Amino acid sequence: MTDLHKSFADLGLREEILAAIAEAGYTEPTPIQAQAIPRILERRDVLGVAQTGTGKTASFTLPMLQILAAGRSRARMPRSLILSPTRELATQTARNFEIYGKNLKLTMALLIGGVGMGDQERVLEKGVDVLIATPGRLLDWFERGKVLLGGVEILVIDEADRMLDMGFIPDVERIVGLLLRRQQTLLFSATMPKEVRRLADKFLRDPVTIEVAPPERKAELVEDVFVPTEPQKKRDILLRLIESRQVGTAMIFCNTKREVAGLTRFLARRGLDARDIHGDLDQPVRQATLDAFGRGEVRYLVATDVAARGLDIADMPVVINFDVPHTPDDYVHRIGRTGRAGRKGRAFTLITAADARAVAAIERQTGRRIPRLELDPATAGARPDVAAEESPRRDRKRTPKRSEAPRSEAARSERPARGRGTSGRRKPAGERPAPAEPVVAFGEHVPRFLLRPAPLRVPAKAGVE
Ligand code: AMP
Repeated sequence: MTDLHKSFADLGLREEILAAIAEAGYTEPTPIQAQAIPRILERRDVLGVAQTGTGKTASFTLPMLQILAAGRSRARMPRSLILSPTRELATQTARNFEIYGKNLKLTMALLIGGVGMGDQERVLEKGVDVLIATPGRLLDWFERGKVLLGGVEILVIDEADRMLDMGFIPDVERIVGLLLRRQQTLLFSATMPKEVRRLADKFLRDPVTIEVAPPERKAELVEDVFVPTEPQKKRDILLRLIESRQVGTAMIFCNTKREVAGLTRFLARRGLDARDIHGDLDQPVRQATLDAFGRGEVRYLVATDVAARGLDIADMPVVINFDVPHTPDDYVHRIGRTGRAGRKGRAFTLITAADARAVAAIERQTGRRIPRLELDPATAGARPDVAAEESPRRDRKRTPKRSEAPRSEAARSERPARGRGTSGRRKPAGERPAPAEPVVAFGEHVPRFLLRPAPLRVPAKAGVE
């Protein structure tokens, strides 16, 4: 039997872990899990070329739990260390350990910026089996003598390419130099730039390389289109897109924190349940936003790439790139937030003439011309220039009424608004209609001044800044 056809039970995991996996609802291992778990249990070093969404976190947490369950922790000396580039990824990884390790008596500490650390200090003092940390915060604690790294036997470097983007490689190298008893190293990265390759060559001993789900394969599940527009029309086009494509829930990416904040305010003023998430927000604020999103109280999450990295939101039906990402890799990462777990997702990218170069680079990397969807913020109908833009899943038998945009399967699967329309729109008292709405309601003969954005109050609940 090849690794790929094995069940979790075939991988050599113990009963307590299998029970927790079953409770999490996983019926079979993902390809990276099937390949990595047996090798990690054999105590081999692993180079995992895989991105978020492939099940990579469980591919190292499950075997680590099993290995760690066989030993005991010592005061202030963690036995394993997971380095994560962001607080969110670190938090998600900690959740994974909690879920899969619920039937084992292992201890864990989380060292990240932005959260009260008193209780973590107490846990560390007693000794932990697993320490999950961002590099800067860990070095800070090490320098203050609050944690000793000499007992770490298993090291995981997660999302190494993102560590590189964020300038953490020197910190990571320094930390690895402190791990005098390191026996096993696992390095995960979605891409393999030269610097990450160098790190892998330096720190991994005779590693097993496991590569899964190259971006091209993942992208098949995502129906992505470009929406040409002009810089000053982007916000209205976004509203038009949300209305005409029935986008009830989405992650909206901008390239800067400033744009994230401004766009969130704009959407909130238009009565949309939008919330921002960027690197400067405190951890409790970010977590509260994610929790609100999980409960369906927030429908549009506006984020930068850095802030979004590592957010474990498995069922994002739509991704909108308000700004074209700087690199094709970022594009693949962003649209990889949708189309997960075998479900079709949709991705829209607003493009302007100034983005021509980035657009060409994306099309070169993905190896295909991405269909264009022409939307006019001031007219009723959207005019797709290619039939491919409209999914074949759509019901074509009946011509929908103007006020009733056809709905794709992806739109149907989006969480319905609580007591609101499918587009998640909520009108604060006194709000005048947003630009997109008169278009739908009155047709094309609305005087332009009625379509102008009106000065509106920010609804109290929107909670931006
Ligand atoms: P990751 O790639 O680690 O970010 O995982 C992506 C998502 O897949 C997470 O929401 C996991 O809970 C979920 N997941 C991980 N392993 C499995 C599995 N074997 N079956 C189903 N879902 C899984």
